[in-house]
Amino acid sequence: MLKPLYDIDVLLPFVSANSIIVTPNERLARAISHAYDTFQADQGLEAWAKISVMSLNRVFERWLDEGRLAPCLKPQQAQYLWESIIRGRMPDDHVTGWLNPKALALESYKTYELIYHYQLRADQSFASAMAADPDSATFYEWLQSFEHDIIKHGWVTQAQQWQALASCHCKLAADVIMVDFDTLTPLQRAACERVSERVRFVRSVLPPSIDAAKTSVCAFQDADEQLRWVAAWAKAHYESKQGERLGIVVPDLNTHRQRLEYHLRQAFGLEHSDYTSLPVNFSAGMAASQVPLIDAAASVLKLSLGRLRPPELLALARSPYLSLCVSHHEFRALREALYDLAPAKLGHSELLLILEQLSKEVPDSALSRWLLTSRVDSKDATCLEHVRHWEQSLQAAGWPGKRGLDSVEYQAFKLWQRTLRDLVSWDGLRPKWAASDALTLLESSLTNSVFQPETPDQNIQVLGTLEAAGLCFDRLIVTDAVAGHFPERIALSPFLPKHLQRQYKMPRADEDQEYQLAKSLLEGMAARSQSLYFSYVALADESKVAVTPLLSQLEQSFPVVAELDRPVIPGVWSMMLESRGLTLTTPQGDLKGGAYRLGMHALCPMQAYSRYRLDIPEEASLEDGLSAKEQGLVLHKSMELLWRGKNRLEQVNPADIAPAVAEALKSISRARQVLLPDLALEAEQLRLETAIRLWLELESQRVPFNVLEHERKAELNLKGWTFSFRLDRLDALADDYSVIIDYKSTAPSTSTWFGGRLEQAQLPLYALALGEHVKGIAYGQISSTKPAKLVGAGQQGFGKGVKVIENWGEQKTLWERALLDLIDELEVGEASVLPSARACRYCDFAAICRVQLSDDEEEGTDE
Ligand code: SF4
Repeated sequence: MLKPLYDIDVLLPFVSANSIIVTPNERLARAISHAYDTFQADQGLEAWAKISVMSLNRVFERWLDEGRLAPCLKPQQAQYLWESIIRGRMPDDHVTGWLNPKALALESYKTYELIYHYQLRADQSFASAMAADPDSATFYEWLQSFEHDIIKHGWVTQAQQWQALASCHCKLAADVIMVDFDTLTPLQRAACERVSERVRFVRSVLPPSIDAAKTSVCAFQDADEQLRWVAAWAKAHYESKQGERLGIVVPDLNTHRQRLEYHLRQAFGLEHSDYTSLPVNFSAGMAASQVPLIDAAASVLKLSLGRLRPPELLALARSPYLSLCVSHHEFRALREALYDLAPAKLGHSELLLILEQLSKEVPDSALSRWLLTSRVDSKDATCLEHVRHWEQSLQAAGWPGKRGLDSVEYQAFKLWQRTLRDLVSWDGLRPKWAASDALTLLESSLTNSVFQPETPDQNIQVLGTLEAAGLCFDRLIVTDAVAGHFPERIALSPFLPKHLQRQYKMPRADEDQEYQLAKSLLEGMAARSQSLYFSYVALADESKVAVTPLLSQLEQSFPVVAELDRPVIPGVWSMMLESRGLTLTTPQGDLKGGAYRLGMHALCPMQAYSRYRLDIPEEASLEDGLSAKEQGLVLHKSMELLWRGKNRLEQVNPADIAPAVAEALKSISRARQVLLPDLALEAEQLRLETAIRLWLELESQRVPFNVLEHERKAELNLKGWTFSFRLDRLDALADDYSVIIDYKSTAPSTSTWFGGRLEQAQLPLYALALGEHVKGIAYGQISSTKPAKLVGAGQQGFGKGVKVIENWGEQKTLWERALLDLIDELEVGEASVLPSARACRYCDFAAICRVQLSDDEEEGTDE
């Protein structure tokens, strides 16, 4: 059993059978309970009466219950009422401005609580002081509306319930012992004294200053360095002396919790282990909305209301807590449907289109079955009805999964159920809610609920500043020990006159008061720890930061922050030195992927091997607007339509460009046309019209030509392999002189056609396939932002960028040899990482090959 975190000797003289020990927080209540039990066991007892110890929040709930006081509005509900009042009184143009009603509602709620807890209404000058300040006067008007509303509806606030206890006529406790309270409001104190026969305040007597002999102060250059050092410190002491109690105080724990946990996991080598694997208790939990099991449930409900983003649907489909995809095949089909359609959002109509596409591969998918049962009724309903519907929807989605829940997941499951139950109480505020409003309430409740699963007591405690008060440690480290935390910076309410806040000693209203509080906290921590470190970050926004003035007399040092001396993921890496995979075993017939595959292999063998031999699908991205593939399709179709029935340039009327592009845009799938925003289609229409117009201007400067064919299918047999393809355009310059033109938005370099590895293999392959009369090949650059140009080679020049090859026949022989070399590589399974500069830009396999190209040369998309 770990040694107690609390020195029970302080309390023993006060404890009796009918006493209730009240603490400022749960952590101290648990520590006292554990310390008392340890003490009794150490006395040799086998059984003893438990002491009654609970936090102030718990005892408040108990007294409300015992005093039969009505349940009060939850803070979130009170803020909702504040927000509706503020919205109703703000001009419309302010509602979305910097005067955010939500933020104002939160501030108003806090100010309302202060007024009650510091009993300002009993002050005769209160109303006149509020009227004298314009912001306070505005708030005061809101306050009157708020109070009018709650009286009218019979609602009760939490502050009013404290007030009710403070004027209660019954005694609810005999002997109350208040332990280590640094912040207790006058109203809380009055309530405790009113309902108890006797109240005593207890805290241990502490030495008047921090003992410098056992204290060190360490400064760091940045926040991560500080946390890394803290994590290494915790690990070193945890391992060197088992059973020691280690404490880490983090003033702004909610903000830094995740980062500190990351460093602790790194230090302990537990990055991929579950929640309970670290020997650490965190006093701050996480927002319920971030817990995976709860997030999966909330996401299903968001999906039913069209609030999920497309990539989130894929994450949901893989969730172990759901059965929205029941097989790998179903998941792949869903992913392909999603990428093909690339919807910008996932409303009901978008989901139907995705399911229609999915049904071609999976006729009765789990997702379509779920959608049938989860159809959202557009009518407003009570929260209770919404909750019932959500439960059905989640059941249909298979939540919380087929496998059993572990202890932490089970606690998350219970928290979800509690949150749904609490949501029903909103029906008291409004009889009917739109489904989207009810879901917003749920999301906000989940963001505001803290999930802190109960885990076994651990050696290392991570605490906020106030939670560390009263606890004893062998070693304690206090991070961010700077002014601003010790003492806390002043933060006055904007809605209360400043002099009232200071006069009534409200929290964070007075510098001296905060200084004394910080001093007492730090001295308490120092007195209760065997050894103590203070750490801080000495640089912020490029300015030097000093340690808190409370410690400035102590010597300070900059410890060396050691890198962790262990592999990132222990023992699973191995080095691949081979540049070849498996040899092709059936060298005759159609080569899957055809000429495109050979072209890809020429650009990077690893890319082609990953795509065609390992069969790894290319990941399309969910982009807004048309994908590169769709843009290419529309360009080719536009050019085909523009030239349909014509073969000479003078027959092409520029007025035909716009209708040709408009018609070509219809070649995009029907579902995509529905999903694409009108703006994207209009933008593409304009872009292509400009690009084609520029291209036709260039064509008008070429030597005369006739267009023979568009989109002609062809194939080439080489070494027993058949390469099939479709060429963009074939032009005739003379009877026995044709040239192949391939449209691109950016024409690539053709330098490797004339030496070295043949990186641009497709056009040479086409030239070989089409026979003797083809004596030129070229890329036609058609772009709205780059100049139109022809880049290629031919027996004669047929454009400015065309290189003249004197011996065309010999050039074709060289290309044939180069193509045979590439085929040899394909056959032996060549998979080396040999990318041309442009290959990686559009490749999805960088995570496999791990290449890092620094070459940033600008290259464009293929079309
Ligand atoms: S990222 Fe570059 S090197 Fe890696 S496979 Fe793709 S093209 Fe080849």
